[in-house]
Amino acid sequence: MKFIGIFLFALFLSIFYVGKAQVQPESYCSHLMDSDFTQGRSIHKSNHGNYTISKVLAHLKTDVYTGYLDATVTLSIKAKKSGNLAFDLHNNNQVEYVLYDGDTVPFTHLADKLSLNKIISNNGNHQVTIKYEGNPSTLGSRSYQLQHHNGVPVLSTLSEPYGAKDWLPTLQQLNYKTDTLELNLTFLKEFKSAANGLLQSRVEDGQWATEKWVHYYPINFYLVAFSISNYEEYNYTLNLREGDLFFQNFVYPENIDFERKRIDTTAALMHYFDSLFTPYPYMNEKYGHAEWEWGGGMEHQTMSFMGSFSFDLIAHELAHQWFGNLVTCGSWQDIWINEGFATYLNALGHERFSNEEGFRAWLKLLKDNAMRKPQLSVFAYDTNNVSQLFDYSTTYAKGAFVLHMLRKRVGDDIFFEGLRNFLTNYKTKGFATTTDLQKEIENASNLDLNDFFQQWIYLPSYPVVNYGWDGTNNQILLSLTQRSKIDDGTIFNLHIPVKLKGTERDTTIVVNLVQSEQKFLLSADFLIDDVDIDPENEVLMETKLVGAPSLYSSNFIDVLPNPAHSKLVVLSRSRSYLIENLGLFKMDGEQVLSMDYPNAQRFVEIDLNDFSPGVYILRTWYKGTERNARVIIK
Ligand SMILES: [Zn+2]
Repeated sequence: MKFIGIFLFALFLSIFYVGKAQVQPESYCSHLMDSDFTQGRSIHKSNHGNYTISKVLAHLKTDVYTGYLDATVTLSIKAKKSGNLAFDLHNNNQVEYVLYDGDTVPFTHLADKLSLNKIISNNGNHQVTIKYEGNPSTLGSRSYQLQHHNGVPVLSTLSEPYGAKDWLPTLQQLNYKTDTLELNLTFLKEFKSAANGLLQSRVEDGQWATEKWVHYYPINFYLVAFSISNYEEYNYTLNLREGDLFFQNFVYPENIDFERKRIDTTAALMHYFDSLFTPYPYMNEKYGHAEWEWGGGMEHQTMSFMGSFSFDLIAHELAHQWFGNLVTCGSWQDIWINEGFATYLNALGHERFSNEEGFRAWLKLLKDNAMRKPQLSVFAYDTNNVSQLFDYSTTYAKGAFVLHMLRKRVGDDIFFEGLRNFLTNYKTKGFATTTDLQKEIENASNLDLNDFFQQWIYLPSYPVVNYGWDGTNNQILLSLTQRSKIDDGTIFNLHIPVKLKGTERDTTIVVNLVQSEQKFLLSADFLIDDVDIDPENEVLMETKLVGAPSLYSSNFIDVLPNPAHSKLVVLSRSRSYLIENLGLFKMDGEQVLSMDYPNAQRFVEIDLNDFSPGVYILRTWYKGTERNARVIIK
């Protein structure tokens, strides 16, 4: 319910796409919420990274009715330098024993850190087996949660950003990925599991079933997940540019008839992203969805968990398979790379499959959201503040809108070429920072984008631009001033499209505003009778018209008499332009009169007795089109 504007629009578009509205609004990626960390729990980030985990072999036996977990996990580790060996594992889990290369080893388990009485030496490969049990669902965290649908349990994990250790021994860092993941999930046999990679086998033994999931692509711990419930499957094959891809969906039985059609929208989006960027990153395995009880979704690698199957949520989580999973943000400070891209690719889905108006409306919503918290920067300086890390206005909406501005700055071809290079060049490393992204787009465009990244990513705020113009015939003098919304003194480097409008034609010129005050002489080869600043809403700024009186001799609106004394008649010269709304403004922009005419009229009369003498701007609207006239009241 947090992002209601987006939701209502999503609702509208859902109707457009699949002919049936979603039942309830949703949020985007769910993530672990801040409240998880304000109830006496600390955010624990590893600082003992003298090794990496190359393989996880987990045997997890769960009681789906209580959440109880009985686990044996073997981690293959590669030592990077000598030192003590420790893992992240929540103290709620009782550790029974630890084996180091097959031998029992003493350990301590304090403050969510499992420390082995073992010094590892440089470059060694070792195997550590940890046997533990407990009930992570009692933590009250989203990281491992037992919930219910239709009276049936659903047990799901959600580890982003720091929650994997609640149920799995880890080394939670954003500087390496695990090469191989094998999850052996044991649960009552009336249930099914959904997890990363491919389901290799299901073996039933008495009342239990064990399903073995294997994933042979590099994966970070926050993307490891499973969910167990009485799922039904809806599976088929998608034909992509590098071949066939298995598409596997785990849906509640009570929803499957309704959701099939909505799930089918994935195919078009998958084809689009697969052709626009690099091929789908996990071709040898699958892409899939599993339904869960959280309102939003989470892009678990090859298996997104979904609160619903709306077009927007499908697009967002699918986009993460490239931006977030294949190439992961290089630090949590760079989380906007995951979320800004996923949000922008959702917008690209609208651009591709909706009409121009739909895409424009989506961008406008993003822009409105992006301006909600001018005091925050897209770059997340404080990674301990999880709710700020995943702040929708900033990390998602502003991140996405900045990407749109970047696209406009460098042009479509270079923008998408730069993104393909970004994915290609960082997929092996698996991580990329804001600096890396800037470098790739600069290389592709040959432009210095330092100002751009500084002002939109690293600094907070956005500009407030006042504009006015004056001129005659085919030439105008445009005056622009800017200040930072939060008055922090930032002067923005802005490329602002200015549309010069004539009665029959128009033209758009981009001006580069780099000072607090600048004037631009602009000309067209036709008679200019109106000027529009940033007509397509492509710059993150607030604009305000300040007077330009000599231009208000409108061709469309007559005001009689002018100068006027006690009454004024406003008359449209065109049969196709009526008056729906009317406003009277002082020259400093203050509105002194607002009138609505539910039955649009060709002419209206207004009473001027309440207004002091002076020069005013009279403005009328009809179907979104604005007309202005200059009025003198005596
Ligand atoms: Zn997301």
